[in-house]
Amino acid sequence: MPRSYVREARRRGLGRRRERIVPIIDRLATEHDDAEIALRFRSDLELLVSVMLSAQTTDVNVNKVTPVLFEKYRRPEDYLAVPLEELQRDIYATGFFRQKAKAIRGTMQTLVAEFDGKVPRRLEELVRLPGVARKTANVVSSELGHSQGIVVDTHVRRLSQRLGLTRQEDPVKIERDLQKVVPRPDWARFPHLLIWHGRRVCNARRPLCEECVVEDLCPSSRLR
Ligand code: SF4
Repeated sequence: MPRSYVREARRRGLGRRRERIVPIIDRLATEHDDAEIALRFRSDLELLVSVMLSAQTTDVNVNKVTPVLFEKYRRPEDYLAVPLEELQRDIYATGFFRQKAKAIRGTMQTLVAEFDGKVPRRLEELVRLPGVARKTANVVSSELGHSQGIVVDTHVRRLSQRLGLTRQEDPVKIERDLQKVVPRPDWARFPHLLIWHGRRVCNARRPLCEECVVEDLCPSSRLR
């Protein structure tokens, strides 16, 4: 169980979550005005495949593989037209290539059979695709302008806890806590802000609290 910074925020008199969330978002948005998804894609289908490939690896790694991949595979049918081993070879460098190839093939079959070859936008449709879990579905629907949830990855989890926005460990419960305080129009950009702040300032091992724009709103600041 992580230390509860929710209670610590109260003890330090920093204000309630609902009072702190808007200034936190505003300041992070100013500080990281370039915060956006790091994956490179040109279509809904490329977005979906990129996000599926990004499991257990870095976005940088995925971006090295996809330019060649997306020249070869342009439609869902293209992923079904080659032997499974060939697709595995083409995505090998992203790791877990067997599971990912299987998931991609299953997803392409469902897209062709049930969605006329198009990527659906709604969360409940996306999670019906084989190998597409809630996090992947959340990323895709948010990027397509239909965010229905808040993406929780390792950075979002760490920063949400440190900022005293949740005391939960489980991503689904963290998402539920965030949905209660983050204004609905900010659901899509909020994870990007935390991810970029996590990479640049509030890193896991040694957070740079002295350089942090939300330090006075953060119950886990090392400066006090
Ligand atoms: S004050 Fe420190 S711990 Fe809090 S968000 Fe900023 S860098 Fe992270």
